[in-house]
Amino acid sequence: MHGTYKYAGACEKKFLKNVKCKTTELLIDCTGDVYRCHSDLYAARKPIGNILDPDFTISDIFRDCDHFGYCNPCDVKIKTNRFQVFGHTSVEIEY
Ligand code: SF4
Repeated sequence: MHGTYKYAGACEKKFLKNVKCKTTELLIDCTGDVYRCHSDLYAARKPIGNILDPDFTISDIFRDCDHFGYCNPCDVKIKTNRFQVFGHTSVEIEY
């Protein structure tokens, strides 16, 4: 847990909170299932769809989440973006 994290308590596993969350990344497992975030992927939570489904569309939207507090550090650590500008996180969360 080195570094700076954008959302207090997000990874501490001390509480669960309902939030809205939007990812900037496309997270796909080896079966083609697509997930909201690394936490969902590693916990094998319900995927948002499957990349092999012809009806699946990629939507840049906020989704309801009731697992805030159990986020994965990959998603909420403040990093540099593709332009090497510091301040990027993989997800954006609204309380
Ligand atoms: S709030 Fe945390 S657990 Fe929920 S979708 Fe976002 S990153 Fe994943």
